[in-house]
Amino acid sequence: MMFAEVAIKVPLFRTFDYRIEDNIDIKVGSRVKVPFGNRKLLAIVIAIKHDSAIPKNKLKSVFEVLDDTPILSQQHLKFLRFCAQYYSHPLGETVFTALPGALRDGDHPDKATVATFALTEAGKQLPTLRAKKQMALLTQLNESGESSLTELKALGFSKQQINALLEKALICEQIKHDTQWQTQVISLSQKPRLNEEQATACSAINQQNGYRCFLLEGVTGSGKTEVYLQSLERIIESGKQALILVPEIGLTPQTVNRFRRRFAGLPIDLWHSNLTDNERLHTWRRAEQGSSALVIGTRSSIFLPFKNLGMIIVDEEHDNSFKQQEGLRYHARDLAVYRCASSQIPLILGTATPALETLQKAMSGKYQLLTLSQRAQTTTDNQFLLVDMKGQKEQAGIAPNTLQHIEATLKRAKQVMIFLNRRGYAPTLLCHECGWLSQCLHCSASTTYHKAMNRLVCHHCGEQTFIPPQCPDCGSTQIMPTGMGTEQLESFFTERFPDTPLSRIDRDTTRRKGALEDALDEINQGGARILIGTQMLAKGHHFADVSLVVILDVDSGLYSSDFRATEHMAQLITQVAGRAGRSGEAGKVLLQTHFPEHPLLQDLVNNGYQDFARFALKEREEVQLPPFGHLAILRAQATNAKLVFDFLSDLIPATPFSGIQLLGPIPAPMERLAGKYRYQLHIQASQRVVLHNYISQLMQYISEHKLANRVRWSIDIDPMDT
Ligand code: ADP
Ligand code: ZN
Ligand code: ZN
Repeated sequence: MMFAEVAIKVPLFRTFDYRIEDNIDIKVGSRVKVPFGNRKLLAIVIAIKHDSAIPKNKLKSVFEVLDDTPILSQQHLKFLRFCAQYYSHPLGETVFTALPGALRDGDHPDKATVATFALTEAGKQLPTLRAKKQMALLTQLNESGESSLTELKALGFSKQQINALLEKALICEQIKHDTQWQTQVISLSQKPRLNEEQATACSAINQQNGYRCFLLEGVTGSGKTEVYLQSLERIIESGKQALILVPEIGLTPQTVNRFRRRFAGLPIDLWHSNLTDNERLHTWRRAEQGSSALVIGTRSSIFLPFKNLGMIIVDEEHDNSFKQQEGLRYHARDLAVYRCASSQIPLILGTATPALETLQKAMSGKYQLLTLSQRAQTTTDNQFLLVDMKGQKEQAGIAPNTLQHIEATLKRAKQVMIFLNRRGYAPTLLCHECGWLSQCLHCSASTTYHKAMNRLVCHHCGEQTFIPPQCPDCGSTQIMPTGMGTEQLESFFTERFPDTPLSRIDRDTTRRKGALEDALDEINQGGARILIGTQMLAKGHHFADVSLVVILDVDSGLYSSDFRATEHMAQLITQVAGRAGRSGEAGKVLLQTHFPEHPLLQDLVNNGYQDFARFALKEREEVQLPPFGHLAILRAQATNAKLVFDFLSDLIPATPFSGIQLLGPIPAPMERLAGKYRYQLHIQASQRVVLHNYISQLMQYISEHKLANRVRWSIDIDPMDT
């Protein structure tokens, strides 16, 4: 008699054994159906055993086998096991999180086919069409070779435009085919000659056989992407695949096109949250079978199986979107380190503003630091200006001094970018008579005033309410919006500079697919002179004409309960500043702050992020915070505050565990959310193994705790939001 040990998607820290009937053939890594309670559930076989610790008569049998060929290799299972263990997450849930939805639902792995559009012979002649969008579509397909419907929609093309070209027989629809790219001679389109630093970086990477992690530290525009492209050549030539991880906002058609143009004819697949289930399964399968040469993907692409992975690149490695904030709280960059080390392949972490965790490993020699210190195309440095906001007569949050700079820049017909750090700065309603602030009824947060909808919206739970005609506290009708948002800025500037074209880029204005691309195109074609935006403007877009960048609210990053706040603020300022000065003249970066003498801010503007980061690391070391100590947070919430408090208090042992510091229970940064009270325990250790040992004991203890089922709790290893 043989037994199958399986992982099931249940929140339990254990696996389950089933009998295998004599006549069925089961392999490790295959999906099976098993009886579980009175249900039949999908499970993944993680081991086949000759024996089971459970009495034989208590064991049920595997009900059905779904895969003759395993869908997960032994090596991939090992990776998922590591993941579950490292993040203290149940193995079953971990494995199922890693699978694409279609496989979780029991679909056949070969089910998905994806159609793409390509030019016909007639289309390749690029005839001139009167319809502008149809012409643009032809040009796009001429550049990309082939694109799926999802890709075209993301670029703002409609089904009608595609149909029009199909009718004219300029394009055709085809099933995405498998090319034997490994044996193909790849033709590289024109590429620039590397500068000295780039060449040094590339040769260090190329010399690496086996695992090595490289931190490619280079300011925006210093040519990091060029280093990725040229390092990939060797990997592809040897027939191996590569994964390129990009932040959520970074997966733009421009980025993808750059890879497609360079490696024309090579199969490049995408992975991101806007794909359909079918497309995800397709990419998963192509990666697994070796049909894709490159996969460019967001966070969860780290779970893709590859037949023969040769390299991982993490672009903008400091970006917070690589950390999953719910369920399996993994960090894609950290998992990339594990994957590359276990597969013995190189890893490139690229950024202008390394996370302090990464920088510390580079400085201690664990990672190899490669620096690109100069912009590839222009060499002008930006100039920083601090505008002291104390006692200033501001209008819409803009100091008179700032306004003068803006005016002067506009006079020279250059572009001005005005950046608002939406985080922690939202307009809310205030009573001018008594100081009443509009609060969410369910959260400890103010609601945000949305002028266009004329509603108050809670950005935490989504609750919408009408604007009260009078102050609920004193009855005054003098209630007005405070603070500011991009909308307010927009109305201020349209009033102030009525003849200057303006463009606003934030989540609200770019909701429609293709809207962001349209806005960016317009900006680059020299339309808008004033650009107002949020985080979205900070990332990788190239604007030729921006010579002044204004950051309105720096202070929210300086004083915060989150120990990473200054690091994130500095990364943001540096990224935003990277938008200025590409037009050949030195850019100006203007920061409004009430604390111009703050030492970290001074360090940042005088000496740059590189210096700031090294200084900030020393501060972290003094207080033994990450990366010098290791941190985990146990969070709990319930409608009843006492229950949460009692639960967490009870987890603190009477005698302290050696090497572990516990802090709490303390209220979460947002103490009340959607009617639930939230507290947390901070668990800190200077040794990682001590932390992990402690946490696995803690999980055991919690699993038997009587309050554990009455609160919602979760553990977050290496948390980003503290
Ligand atoms: P990053 O990824 O660091 O922002 P990119 O690789 O996008 O930088 O390079 C910025 C610009 O400089 C791009 O337009 C790129 O084509 C160009 N570039 C990069 N390296 C070189 C080089 N060695 N010679 C000429 N142009 C280059
Ligand atoms: Zn009032
Ligand atoms: Zn709320």
